Amino acid sequence: MSAPVVGRFAPSPSGYMHLGNLLAMLLAWLDCRSLGGEMVFRMEDLDPARSKPVYAEAMAADLRWLGLDWDRGWPEDPSYAQSKRTALYEEAFRTLKARGLVYPCFCRRSERLAAASAPHPGEREQDGGCRCKELTQTERAALEAAGRRSAWKLKSPDVEITVSDGHYGAFPQNPARDVGDFIVRRADGVYAYQLAVSVDDMAMGVTRVVRGRDLLSSAPRQKWLIETLGGAAPDYCHCPLLTGGAAKLSKRLGSLSTETLRREYRGEEVAGRLAHLCGLIDREEPVAPRELIEEFCWDKITRTDIMIEQR
Ligand code: GLU
Repeated sequence: MSAPVVGRFAPSPSGYMHLGNLLAMLLAWLDCRSLGGEMVFRMEDLDPARSKPVYAEAMAADLRWLGLDWDRGWPEDPSYAQSKRTALYEEAFRTLKARGLVYPCFCRRSERLAAASAPHPGEREQDGGCRCKELTQTERAALEAAGRRSAWKLKSPDVEITVSDGHYGAFPQNPARDVGDFIVRRADGVYAYQLAVSVDDMAMGVTRVVRGRDLLSSAPRQKWLIETLGGAAPDYCHCPLLTGGAAKLSKRLGSLSTETLRREYRGEEVAGRLAHLCGLIDREEPVAPRELIEEFCWDKITRTDIMIEQR
């Protein structure tokens, strides 16, 4: 018997969701439900400085308004919020440390890389010039004695890892060459996105990860982390981004936020617009997501990013 299908919503409450986030959520839900799977809702509130309860609450309401549901997770079970899962990340971190896969990084520049958030397009991930991997024990001890706090970086594996993305096909990456060593724990003790997301997908039994294609370049690292920690990596299926003119929509820019959308439209109108924009239905008309389950198929969905007018 094949393993049960488990999909997930994993939004970060750093702002109101926008139309692009909703497209990814709709596709994650349709993918999971069309496979008869169970849907999990995880709240990715890792970064205490950027996460706000008001956005987290709004996200659950947004998904329900759009016509999406889930079987377990936040907010019914608060342990599905990343802020409550530090012990699990700590355990994974200890495993990596015991295997000599991480090292302390004292660079001030590392502190500025907001590793608790998923990387956004255009953000530089490579921390060029960092020599902390080569520090001797004595040098490390001296920095610690001087009160310097360190982040912890993972020694990126120097191997080719290929993720067979369900929508974009084979995506090969050599993490050491292509992204460099990356932070798994920040200097303030907050665990980083790449570690937390891998630990959680593994612990929650997620078998299908559907999200915007800006995170495709994170998938090989996550697959590697999960397998290194003894788990089985999920299938990854990335979806096109919505762009408004030159830029990908971003929560930070407040583009077409659900706060506005919910005031002006019914959930079925927005679901219909999204389904039409991505190629699932031929005409733009109101539709309940559950009506799309039977006909759902990745082949219908465009692979090019979708440009929309900011009305
Ligand atoms: N929480 C991340 C974000 O909102 C997405 C994480 C993921 O799907 O892997 O950008």
